Formats: sequence, C-alpha cells, structure tokens
Amino acid sequence: MKELQERIIRDGRALSETVLKVDAFLNHQVDAELTMKIGQAFADLFRSEGVTKVLTVEASGIHFALATAYALGVPFVYAKKKKAVTLSDDVFSAPVYSFTRQEHYQISIAKQYLSSQERVLIVDDFLATGAALVGLTQIVKDAGAHLVGVGAVVEKSFQEGRGLLEEAGVRVESLARIASMKPGEIQFVESSPVHS
Ligand code: 5GP
Repeated sequence: MKELQERIIRDGRALSETVLKVDAFLNHQVDAELTMKIGQAFADLFRSEGVTKVLTVEASGIHFALATAYALGVPFVYAKKKKAVTLSDDVFSAPVYSFTRQEHYQISIAKQYLSSQERVLIVDDFLATGAALVGLTQIVKDAGAHLVGVGAVVEKSFQEGRGLLEEAGVRVESLARIASMKPGEIQFVESSPVHS
C-alpha cells in the first residue's frame, strides 16, 4: 500500500535494526483516515473468502480490526491479554511471548464469540516474530473455525513471523513489508532504500 509506505518513511522512525516506531500515526496517536483505508485494503484482499469474523489482539490491533470488520460488514473480536472478572472460564486461550515488552502473557477469547462455523480473518498492526498471530491461529484452530488468512499492517520481513505462518499453511497479506532498516533508512521488500 503506497500511501502507508510513504507515511512510514515520513513519520516512522527506525529505532534500531529491529524496532520501528510508528506511534505518530499507527499505534499511539492514530490517523483515523489512514486506518479506514487500511481496513478497506484488507477487506478488498479477503472479500471473496466469505469472512464472517475478524479477530485481533488488544490493544494496537483493535482499530485495524474495527476498520476491516466495518468494510466487510461483519463483527470483530479482540483477544484479551488479562482475564477480566467479567470474562467467564469458558474461553479459548493461548500463550504469547511479547517481542516489544519481552514478557510472556496469555490471550483469551470467550468461546461464545468464536464458533466452529466462523470463517476468520486475523489482523494486527505488526507481523514480527509472529508470536501474537500464531497464538491467535491456535485459538482459531481450537475453536474448529476456518482461518482464511492473516493481514498485517506492517511486516518486518527479516523476522520469522511470515515463515512460521506460511509453514502452517496460512495465507499472509501485509500492506507494508520491510526488508531491512537502520536509523535513518528503511528498505521495503522489492524496492530500493528510502532515506527518511
Ligand atoms: P510479534 O513478534 O508477536 O509478531 O509482534 C507482537 C506485537 O509486538 C505486534 O503486534 C506489535 O504490537 C509489537 N511489535 C513488534 N515489532 C514491533 C516494532 O518494530 N514496532 C512496534 N511499534 N511494535 C512492534
């Protein structure tokens, strides 16, 4: 998605060779118009798959799941990271290791919101090590639902996430794929280096 790549160059910042800061427009302050276009892009990619539900993980996937679900005309569900007292014991859960926070946590979705009849599209802000998305795919599997694919807003293609998902037979669509980066330079997959 050209507009997203241009925005990453303009307002994103490679803090190191592995961490990209995009909190000016994607995951802290949020550009609402760009978010709706991202949702539309995912909807266009997966519309023919008959998606019935969009899944994500709180918190930074929620607005992308909302935009995608709205464009597809279906509900979305976000996995919770901490068990609220209102969440019953009747949940699907999976363990996840957080790349950015360097800690383990558990994600859960109430069983009543994920039946075996669903055709599920998973979306998230980043595909990095794939831990969060692999956790979600495990939940979809446990529910006996059909996973149509995964949509990532930003993929760091030099990390193992895409490979892990593809090995498991999952279709992966990312709107911006970063081949490599270092402070002051971000290189997208199949393009020449772009200086910020
Ligand atoms: P995973 O390693 O499981 O693919 O990534 C899990 C989560 O870590 C992503 O959903 C995203 O919120 C966060 N994350 C991973 N890499 C980056 C990064 O380079 N920058 C930012 N801002 N968040 C990241």
